[in-house]
Amino acid sequence: MTHPTYSPDPAIDEILLRAVDGEALTGGEILTLMDEGEVHALGRAAHDLRLRQCDPQRVTFVVDRNINYSNVCYADCTFCAFYRHKDADGAYVLSYEQIYEKIEELLEIGGTQVLLQGGHHPNLKLDWYQGLLRGIKERYPVHIHGFSPSEVLNFSKVFKMSTREVIAELQAAGLDSIPGGGAEILVDRVRTSLARSKVDAAGWLGIMEEAHSLGMRTTATMMFGHIETIPERVEHLLRVRESQARTGGYTAFIPWTFQPGFTPMAESHPDQLAQVPTSTHKGSIEYLRVLAICRLALNNIANFQSSWVTQGQKIGQLSLFWGANDLGSVMMEENVVSQAGVSFRLSLAQMTALVQDAGFEAAQRDNFYNILRAA
Ligand code: SF4
Repeated sequence: MTHPTYSPDPAIDEILLRAVDGEALTGGEILTLMDEGEVHALGRAAHDLRLRQCDPQRVTFVVDRNINYSNVCYADCTFCAFYRHKDADGAYVLSYEQIYEKIEELLEIGGTQVLLQGGHHPNLKLDWYQGLLRGIKERYPVHIHGFSPSEVLNFSKVFKMSTREVIAELQAAGLDSIPGGGAEILVDRVRTSLARSKVDAAGWLGIMEEAHSLGMRTTATMMFGHIETIPERVEHLLRVRESQARTGGYTAFIPWTFQPGFTPMAESHPDQLAQVPTSTHKGSIEYLRVLAICRLALNNIANFQSSWVTQGQKIGQLSLFWGANDLGSVMMEENVVSQAGVSFRLSLAQMTALVQDAGFEAAQRDNFYNILRAA
């Protein structure tokens, strides 16, 4: 078929044309796009691919609530402003009743999903999590999306079980799917510096693939714009693409930008942040470029979410023309990013208006991207 020309640079144009045709780009080609791809060329190509891979008329979102059941954590990630050690001021574990109340509020606004996330709690036992999952499922018709791979690894240490056994136990108690949080950049040099106690890159991918083998679906994320190099971003994308080729278990990819706000990293690593190359900074143009490259590079993942929580509504809306087909979540509650000094909120009406103003039909979906209702 004939294509429009995306870029005046013939070498870039040739890469973009093949990406839009669904070809898997090499690492070198993705690196070329990262280094030299021009924002509008990348956007036009990513949008064309998005129109082929997803319903061209429609932009979706889920109505869910992020319930941070506990902020107790000993991973000490340098970018995190959310966690507390167990006996510190402000440390908490929500009671089942508090969590149930939050779910009831979610159901009142037509929500369908809870996102359960906590830290690396050192001694909450398996039966606490099983009781919570069973209690939710007995009471409410909600999808439970919960516990990142890093939490699963912590559970395996606290419960003295393999990660596969942990996932199987949580699944039997009611866990439906696993969010792709904590991927940051799946390169151990970066992970050791940012999040020494978190699961390593191979472990993150291994836990996701175990979940997929048990019939679960998960998402994958990328947090960029901190200490990673551009080749490390490319490596992250290649590792996720290879993992998806093995299992097909990722429903969506969500790139988002590091928020230095009130994080330990901003206080304790200003030198490291100052050394971040300008091209990795988290400006909106760089966000849109990277989002588009993710769509073009991950040719085996269908859905890409806009990160309006970190970018705000206007860039969230623009991202619908840079490869995103989904606005993620109408979030009733978000603690981790807001603790880092970023706080964007959208109501269902605002989310719908954002989609419609951009020229798409808005639809509420479930976790598996099935359409529940037109908004
Ligand atoms: S990002 Fe997660 S694992 Fe890291 S310190 Fe914060 S709560 Fe703990």
